[in-house]
Amino acid sequence: MGGEKSLGPKAGFSTRAIHAGQEPDPSTGAVVVPIYQTSTYAQEALGRNKGFEYARTHNPTRFALERNIAALEGGRHGFCFASGLAATNTLLETLSAGDHVVAGHNLYGGTFRIMDRVFRRLGLEFTFIATDDVDRVAAAFRPNTRMLFVETPTNPMMQLTDIAAVSRVAHERTIRVAVDNTFMTPFFQRPLELGADVVLHSVTKYLNGHSDMLGGALVTSDEALADSLRFLQNAAGGVPGPMDCWLALRGTKTLAVRMQRHDQNAGALAQHLEGKPGVSRVFYPGLASHPQHALARRQASGFGGMMSFIPGDGSLEAGRRVFDRLRLFSRAESLGGVESLACHPATMTHASVPRETRLSMGFADGLIRLSVGIEDVDDLRADLDQALETI
Ligand SMILES: *Cc1c(COP(=O)(O)O)cnc(C)c1O
Repeated sequence: MGGEKSLGPKAGFSTRAIHAGQEPDPSTGAVVVPIYQTSTYAQEALGRNKGFEYARTHNPTRFALERNIAALEGGRHGFCFASGLAATNTLLETLSAGDHVVAGHNLYGGTFRIMDRVFRRLGLEFTFIATDDVDRVAAAFRPNTRMLFVETPTNPMMQLTDIAAVSRVAHERTIRVAVDNTFMTPFFQRPLELGADVVLHSVTKYLNGHSDMLGGALVTSDEALADSLRFLQNAAGGVPGPMDCWLALRGTKTLAVRMQRHDQNAGALAQHLEGKPGVSRVFYPGLASHPQHALARRQASGFGGMMSFIPGDGSLEAGRRVFDRLRLFSRAESLGGVESLACHPATMTHASVPRETRLSMGFADGLIRLSVGIEDVDDLRADLDQALETI
């Protein structure tokens, strides 16, 4: 694959989503990047090849996806992985035994698990705190702190971290800031522009958007970090296959239009639920009642498709009654696809979080999380209404 398509520096988001990294195929002119389903490449002569040697290191379909996601996040270097957690794994492998990481206390469960059960054993130290308060973040830094790892908004409480503010205090100590941008996507929030050093994605979610592959990505403009990630991506080999990269490239082409609709639908449902008798709390950054609504407006250009709410008195029984009556919302883990999903975090994604920890965050037993899809909003509203009739 040759160089970048000549996209002007001011090319808009949708233009980059459709074209960045995606030259017509040099051998045929195919407009869509082919699935290079090969593990190796023939060499012309001793020491002479076309720049491709072995697929763990080089794959044109993967390179196209890496350039595409990097362009969307506004970063110089993109690296793709077989899953979001494979990306997290590689990012943590840039650290060494004895290094300290400050991380959000309400991270994606698998992120907490790999930190707590794998990297702690290998000698990294972790402090998990609520990162919504910049002074609390600064107070958690130690002389050996090398990384701050945040997710904003968090899941399922939709708590925000001020990316610019925590980046400022981290950079006073040369601590790198990593932001998991899976929920907002670069369409709404670009952490690198706000001062973060590296962005992480579960490509499985909104970037692919169709619930039909697993993938992860890291984007950075930090040259030293990029060198280290490139080395580790090849050294450990947690790379995605070309078919999954191709699916994700097909997904990112429509990211802008999908995110607009996710945001519209979620905003409408959040407003609707907030006014309903059978609902005691709604958590959505786009609501004026969200305690960090002003920050949400400042650091992102939309609020996304994720929300959660507490039905009735917040008991498990109230949650169960509503959850089990949903028809159009599928009861499933994961998020970010075109179809609407409902999750009961206390028994599904967050079952390993102790009940007291959950309750201390306002995360009631009956809380329901919605990944609002891009169906007709009237149908989604009607489904929630009929399910809430049991309250
Ligand atoms: C799903 C998810 C991950 C992990 O990604 P996988 O692709 O499932 O490995 C990490 N962070 C967030 C916010 C997620 O939703």
